[in-house]
Amino acid sequence: MTLGGRGARRGSSLSNLGLIEDGALLLRDGLIAAAGTRTEVEAQPEARAAEKLDLGGRLALPGFVDSHTHLIHAASRAEEYELKIAGATYEEIARKGGGILNSVKKLRAATGADLKKRALAALKLFAAYGTTTVEAKSGYGLDVTSELKILRLHKELAKEQPLEIVSTFLGAHVVPAEYRGKTGGAERYIQLIEQNLLPEIGENRLAEFCDVFCDRGAFSVEQSKHVLQAGRQWGLVPRLHAEQLSRTGAARLAILMRAASCDHLEHVNKNDIRALGKSETVATLLPGCDFHLGLKQYAPARALIEAGAVVSLATDYNPGTSPTLSMPMILSLACTQLRMTPAEAITAATINAAYSLGREKSIGSLEVGKQADIAVFEVADYREIPYYFGVNRCWMTVKRGRVIHAAEQAAI
Ligand SMILES: [Zn+2]
Repeated sequence: MTLGGRGARRGSSLSNLGLIEDGALLLRDGLIAAAGTRTEVEAQPEARAAEKLDLGGRLALPGFVDSHTHLIHAASRAEEYELKIAGATYEEIARKGGGILNSVKKLRAATGADLKKRALAALKLFAAYGTTTVEAKSGYGLDVTSELKILRLHKELAKEQPLEIVSTFLGAHVVPAEYRGKTGGAERYIQLIEQNLLPEIGENRLAEFCDVFCDRGAFSVEQSKHVLQAGRQWGLVPRLHAEQLSRTGAARLAILMRAASCDHLEHVNKNDIRALGKSETVATLLPGCDFHLGLKQYAPARALIEAGAVVSLATDYNPGTSPTLSMPMILSLACTQLRMTPAEAITAATINAAYSLGREKSIGSLEVGKQADIAVFEVADYREIPYYFGVNRCWMTVKRGRVIHAAEQAAI
């Protein structure tokens, strides 16, 4: 499965997977040197001397690009899980000091070494499920020291393990406890972001993107715009958490700001959908959140696809609302809950996700000149990737031509 053809996919082109029966790839220096049928690739003079790796007829596709995660956090929030099951809403828990602020307290108390250890273990699991690139957001620090600690860890992790890490600054996740309930508290915190955090991040290139949680209980559209504009001045491209708990107009702001992506979108209205259909801003859907929180209202994926939006999928790996790092599980949810087809879901999780990270020229499809980022699945048919859920059918993961995960599994 090549997903050939560069750029973002919309509408019916989401279904075009570029399937090749009995395919082969020739890799050189971590890049794809040839792609096609086995006969075509073996006819290349260079192929004769190449080391061979037989995938035994399994399915190879581009490694998943997980374009929305909160990789660095100190611990799970399993204690809140039971409260949610008993009926407490996400916002009720947050008001009592749970939710994001609970994770902030835990992160501030954790050492860099502990955070790194946890993130490294998670990255190994991402790879085991076929993911080769992970976007990672800060946002559980919410003070200068802790936010910078997270962003520096992104940089270290990018160097010290094989997965590609794309760093996003999410200082405006929520207003931290020490600024709450005070007049102008949110504004003073935004000032801290602008004056003390962004210059440091910009000068040291600690992030590529700037994200804001624009929703009820977090930041308003005006405040979000302010933060994203300030980030832009330091070269950070906007992304947004938009229309998750309520409709605020965040998706419109994302389009207006030419954001790379606006994510969640459970509460978009018809006009938002139409506007997203005409924009370059990717609509990233995160069904893992709704599943974990037991919510009934998923994002309107079909309407977005029909309107022509660039739809993408991600795990939103985080301790509060989506504790999964399995992209195949997200594909299963996309199919059963968002009514996307398996082909649409795979495209959304590869080339469209790469586009949302500004990396569509180097990753997201298996084409000559691109990085050799490959996921191999123990399946007879690509539809079996979302069809099996809660089990891992990923057989091998390759990043820049190097095998980073290999599992022996019994065939079903
Ligand atoms: Zn998120």
